[in-house]
Amino acid sequence: MSKVPSEPGNEPAPSPGMMSLQTDEEHLAGMAPVFPSSRYKALSAKHLDEIPQLERLSADDRFAMKVVANVLPFRSNRYVIDNLIDWDRVPDDPLYQITFPQRGMLEEGDFLHMADMMRRDASASEIKAGAHEIREKLNPHPAGQRELNIPKVAHETVQGLQHKYRETVLFFPSQGQTCHAYCTFCFRWAQFVGDNNLKIVAKEADGLHDYLAAHPDVSDLLVTGGDPMIMKTAVFAHYLEPFVEDPRLAHVQDIRIGTKSLTFWPSRFVGDDDADDMLRLLEKIVKAGKHVAIMAHFNHWRELETAVVREAIRRLRDVGAVIRCQAPLLAHINDSSDVWIRMWEEEVRLGMIPYYMFVERDTGARNYFEVPLERTCRVFQGAIKYVSGLARTVRGPSMSATPGKIEIQDVQEIAGEKVFILRFLQGRNPDWVGRPFYAAYDPKATWFDHLKPAFGQEKFFFTDEFNAMVEGRWPATRH
Ligand SMILES: *Cc1c(COP(=O)(O)O)cnc(C)c1O
Ligand code: SF4
Repeated sequence: MSKVPSEPGNEPAPSPGMMSLQTDEEHLAGMAPVFPSSRYKALSAKHLDEIPQLERLSADDRFAMKVVANVLPFRSNRYVIDNLIDWDRVPDDPLYQITFPQRGMLEEGDFLHMADMMRRDASASEIKAGAHEIREKLNPHPAGQRELNIPKVAHETVQGLQHKYRETVLFFPSQGQTCHAYCTFCFRWAQFVGDNNLKIVAKEADGLHDYLAAHPDVSDLLVTGGDPMIMKTAVFAHYLEPFVEDPRLAHVQDIRIGTKSLTFWPSRFVGDDDADDMLRLLEKIVKAGKHVAIMAHFNHWRELETAVVREAIRRLRDVGAVIRCQAPLLAHINDSSDVWIRMWEEEVRLGMIPYYMFVERDTGARNYFEVPLERTCRVFQGAIKYVSGLARTVRGPSMSATPGKIEIQDVQEIAGEKVFILRFLQGRNPDWVGRPFYAAYDPKATWFDHLKPAFGQEKFFFTDEFNAMVEGRWPATRH
């Protein structure tokens, strides 16, 4: 592997303004912005010694980072390192926390065990086995969704699809199962460390199109990953062009693309070889009468500050794509109302639509990132009341649990009992959506599985039906 291009040494990191060659005046004058295009190159755990900015960490901290990177996936790139992370604020900088491994992400015992193997130069196979053992303790298969959500046609599973909610089918193209960088908190972490049996991927497009053609109640396709924007435009076109041309797919009105590329590699839409082709493809789908939604993932307003991300947003909007924004609430990254207020306001100002706030999932480095449900609810409330109605399109905080997306509406005392007020935003049975229900208050609860029905009830209103779905007595998705 060649060295990363900037020289190690004491000189300051390239300033965050590196991409901002253009002044506001030039922008106003309508001149074509100039964005020096650098080629995307992934930096992985084996490149940690080649990142000059890490030299400001102590030797112990660098070692700790390698210990964690042996267990949890690490991937970053020069844009994130040179333009997003504020190295003067490390380790507290939220963008640093988003991509770089931290000691606290492993339990102390697991950390020491891995550190010990590395110090005594244990064999690669011993380290690999040790890492596997630790990963198995981190709930790598959250919510057991695989079995429940994979659709079948004539008892054959359809590769690369998930169909949990009636109107939306998720599609996992095989070429889109990695990302421009990895989020340390990602619930898909296991697939990035090569746990291949976790991957739900599509090897070809026909299964997708045939399945959708046979399901007229599906209005939305959600292309997801990994990050599908890692794919070349030509591959995207192969999957998406039939939606422009094929009358069998006319009922699929909304094409959504889930991506964090606006944060991790905005050049995908500005300056990459096939950036213009991508914009033209999206424009063609819009012109065919479809709604194209970029489901963007932003955790912090600092991701929205570079000139290149702003240009990428402008170009996507220019071709008629709507950008909706969603993110989990995470300790160390965005655990405060102020961060959300500023992020939602900034999103609205840039013409994007706040969509979901999620609760961090029960997997991976959850001990490091999780926040009690009550606090998550208070952070949401503390933010929503200060923003204008244009930002109140956001819903949440929402838990993507096995029965559905469950919103925490409030913590209140009702009839002398302190309870969580919950509501389905999405359900395996659409009849569940919108109905409030109540769980007993638990100050430590961080996930839906921790909650018990309130008021001495034995079960929630959907429990029997949900159990029937799990046991296969009912279809897992109601149509
Ligand atoms: C969130 C989600 C969707 C989309 O839900 P919307 O509320 O329509 O955005 C679809 N499928 C799965 C499995 C999801 O988790
Ligand atoms: S970009 Fe998305 S899929 Fe990729 S690591 Fe981050 S959260 Fe996970």
